[in-house]
Amino acid sequence: MTCTCGSGFQLHRIEEWDDGQSLIRYACPGCGFAFGIETVGHEASPLFEQPVWTDEAQHCLDRLPPYVEPLVREEVESYAGQKHINLISTGLMTEARNQGTVAWHPDAESRLSRVPAPVRAMARVELERTALDRGLPEVTVALMEEIKARYFGMSARAS
Ligand SMILES: [Zn+2]
Repeated sequence: MTCTCGSGFQLHRIEEWDDGQSLIRYACPGCGFAFGIETVGHEASPLFEQPVWTDEAQHCLDRLPPYVEPLVREEVESYAGQKHINLISTGLMTEARNQGTVAWHPDAESRLSRVPAPVRAMARVELERTALDRGLPEVTVALMEEIKARYFGMSARAS
């Protein structure tokens, strides 16, 4: 990508947001013009030829002992490659380290099917990510109750 001033844009920062999206920030070294692209992991893939790490994921990587870091990097990038994802977030990092996504307890699955469709996809992602973050093998009804209180508590009180 080239700026109107003639310089090429450079990748500046990649921020992770709470809702699972990432903000990819570019800046022009010539004139200082900056812009951001809001995206999620798999949608960002066409933007990069090489795997890139969000600032937070990179920070997690940097905190690892020097002998572990290359192993984790390789493990996560290979997992991301299988999924054709080039933007590596902390969520993807956790997922890779757990070698895949979480299972659903049958009770939790049937409860999810009763969640209104517009909310269901978001709830599924949030629940799986929370389970992965905590190293849980599956999503349970108890976890759903907890998340519901956290995310949907306000609307529940309002109704
Ligand atoms: Zn410029």
